[in-house]
Amino acid sequence: MSERNVLVINSGSSSLKFELIEADSGTSLAEGNVERIGEDTSLAGLRVGEREVRRDGEPIADHEAALRTAFDMFDEAGSNLAEMNLAAVGHRAVHGGQTFFEPTLVTDELIAKMAELAPLAPLHNPPGLLGMTVARKLLPDVPHVAVFDTAFFHDLPAPAATYAIDREVAQRWDIRRYGFHGTSHQYVSEQAAVFLDRPLSSLNQIVLHLGNGASVSAIVGGRAVDTSMGLTPLEGLVMGTRPGDIDPGITFYLARTAGMTIDEIDELYNRRSGILGLAGANDFRELLKRIDAGDQAARLAYDIYIHRLRKYVGGYLALLGTTDVITFTAGVGENNPDVRRDALSGLGALGIELDEQLNAGPTRGPRRISAAGSPTTVLVIPTNEELAIARACLSVI
Ligand code: ADP
Repeated sequence: MSERNVLVINSGSSSLKFELIEADSGTSLAEGNVERIGEDTSLAGLRVGEREVRRDGEPIADHEAALRTAFDMFDEAGSNLAEMNLAAVGHRAVHGGQTFFEPTLVTDELIAKMAELAPLAPLHNPPGLLGMTVARKLLPDVPHVAVFDTAFFHDLPAPAATYAIDREVAQRWDIRRYGFHGTSHQYVSEQAAVFLDRPLSSLNQIVLHLGNGASVSAIVGGRAVDTSMGLTPLEGLVMGTRPGDIDPGITFYLARTAGMTIDEIDELYNRRSGILGLAGANDFRELLKRIDAGDQAARLAYDIYIHRLRKYVGGYLALLGTTDVITFTAGVGENNPDVRRDALSGLGALGIELDEQLNAGPTRGPRRISAAGSPTTVLVIPTNEELAIARACLSVI
């Protein structure tokens, strides 16, 4: 077994995902998750090579119990984690605020500082912190590293990072555009350069990360120059359960006229908006089924999603001037040819032409989907945030 195995942990409010990766080769040795933590029945599974272990149906009370279940499943699969020569445990950390923008060793001090940042990301940072705390307790002899989703956007140029609100208020409260999914945007843009066999430094890129959460970034020579998410992951594209860009006035209107509390509006924007709010389902596959069945609300949701996507693509094309490559990634971006076609159709005059067959083809893995003569190359590149986190860990230890 190699010396450089990294356990990557992605801790959500009611779920824990983990993957054991041989970081140098990029080989995934094992992968699993625990879902519905704190509910009456939980789901837990682990795949190690060909072996699959499942622990479904048992209640798993909290994140510590979830991680213990994960370790038990490793044991049951014959891969005791303590004997796996773990070089590090990598933690996906969502919001690094102004403080953290590099992979950082998890210490008591980091945990205390991240707790201070919790108000910036109340849905994401507390479960992440919990995951770190519990994992350090259970694996005390291995270095733990936090890798921040905001890090790649730390150096956004000021015009992209700054909101046009009172400067003193913004400074006092650390209000700026931070951006998220940075690990994915960075990884995918680097992989695009590898795929094209061109130096990263020579490329103007647009990356469309379209998963349940969705964001787009413009990247010049490997450096992000704009991204669609902001202070929080609410801004930008229409997502599974979030609205993306909306008029901030809606918030005041709902509070003053509809009598909703701030917490209710927060819940509305984070959990009941986007595709789910419009069409009753946040999973894109379900949305497509409903469209096929003639559901008008689902059709409109899809059209709104595409409309917003095209506005961002157009904006970033203008920002970049020349765009060498546009890359689709994440669940929807990697798997849905309709979204890719509709996002970029009719842009021949701007130098973007898809090859319909390549776009619709069954191929998986990194691939080109633009026509041979298209001045802008369009790619699909599967993201791998876990591998990027594992490699980032090695840069610290
Ligand atoms: P996240 O990591 O943000 O939870 P993912 O990147 O896993 O999200 O993407 C989840 C989304 O991808 C879901 O809306 C799902 O329906 C969609 N998706 C996954 N596979 C496919 C597919 N084969 N066709 C269309 N959509 C898909």
